[in-house]
Amino acid sequence: MTVTAYGAHAGDQPLGPLAITRRAPGAHDVAIDIAFCGVCHSDLHQVRGEWAGTVYPCVPGHEIVGRVSAVGAHVRNYAVGDLVGVGCMVDSCRACPDCEAGLENYCDGMVGTYNSPTPDAPGHTLGGYSERIVVNERYVLRVRHDAAQLAAVAPLLCAGITTWSPLRHWQAGPGKRVGIVGIGGLGHMGIKLARALGAHVVAFTTSASKRQDAEALGAHEVVVSRDADAMAAQARRLDLIVNTVAAPHDLDAYLSLLKRDGTMVLVGAPSSPHPSPQVFNLIMKRRALAGSMIGGIPETQEMLDFCAEHGIVADIEMIRADQINEAYERMLAGQVKYRFVIDSATLRA
Ligand code: NAP
Ligand code: ZN
Ligand code: ZN
Repeated sequence: MTVTAYGAHAGDQPLGPLAITRRAPGAHDVAIDIAFCGVCHSDLHQVRGEWAGTVYPCVPGHEIVGRVSAVGAHVRNYAVGDLVGVGCMVDSCRACPDCEAGLENYCDGMVGTYNSPTPDAPGHTLGGYSERIVVNERYVLRVRHDAAQLAAVAPLLCAGITTWSPLRHWQAGPGKRVGIVGIGGLGHMGIKLARALGAHVVAFTTSASKRQDAEALGAHEVVVSRDADAMAAQARRLDLIVNTVAAPHDLDAYLSLLKRDGTMVLVGAPSSPHPSPQVFNLIMKRRALAGSMIGGIPETQEMLDFCAEHGIVADIEMIRADQINEAYERMLAGQVKYRFVIDSATLRA
């Protein structure tokens, strides 16, 4: 069927309305009427061609929530009317060690929700800035939050899982001091989740104006990273740092804040490299520098259920689809508190 989407035909073009087709649901597919879609900084990187390999037309969006509108004959876990989510992937090989471990996000055959090869027209996947999507049920998540919270649940599908996965993998919890660098879409979720997991949370921001917000989000301490004395006061105090910054910067400033055996996990994915950190900053305290990409399907469901149980959602600003280009500029300027979410009803307007 033909549906309305928002996307771009080239990296230097603004996003605008497009007509796209969605396949009829196959036996294992779930068709979803999209209610809301979060706006991730990755959407901007991808649609503007800041990462290699963007194919056009590009329809971004991988923080999708909505209701099931149809299911295939063999779908067991979902029924028409269910509240569901779709995150950053819609398929994978299902047979490799990563898929068997429930870490489909690391499968070499992972199919991203947008910009990945697919037999469907036009030959690459098209994301959630659209009215409807059809996804194999293995990659669909159940939403257990109240329906009234649905818009604010959308960002959990990327910003939530991308911070949850490293927090869990590196065992953030009681007795651990966890730094969250960059208070944007990912970072504000990182603060909420690390706090709810019981860690002592230190937020790092370049924006002094975000201090009170960071405290309200759950940070025990807030450090304005331009303040050299405040940074020095954190030296060798943190067990784990989750760094969400979307631009190249000096990693040593943060590595030096780790205790012995501490780890800094990079989740921010800037379009050009960070300056190399000093080797001595790693070897002196046996520190580790790591990366992490979104999360697997089982851990995404675990995170959604944890958030439903603890009443955790994102802090959002709702926009109309035709405000997306302006929203990107505001995201670049750090003027979003803390995630834009597209009201999909405005696509039909
Ligand atoms: P965002 O909302 O724009 O937040 C990024 C934050 O980084 C800003 O709010 C800002 O926080 C801080 N920052 C500091 N200096 C900056 C600079 N020069 N330019 C931009 N930001 C700067 O972005 P997001 O959606 O959270 O995404 C963050 C990054 O993670 C992006 O690169 C995105 O592509 C990537 N990402 C990775 C994964 C993964 O799987 N690893 C998943 C999703 C997104 P302060 O004002 O507090 O300093
Ligand atoms: Zn994302
Ligand atoms: Zn696989």
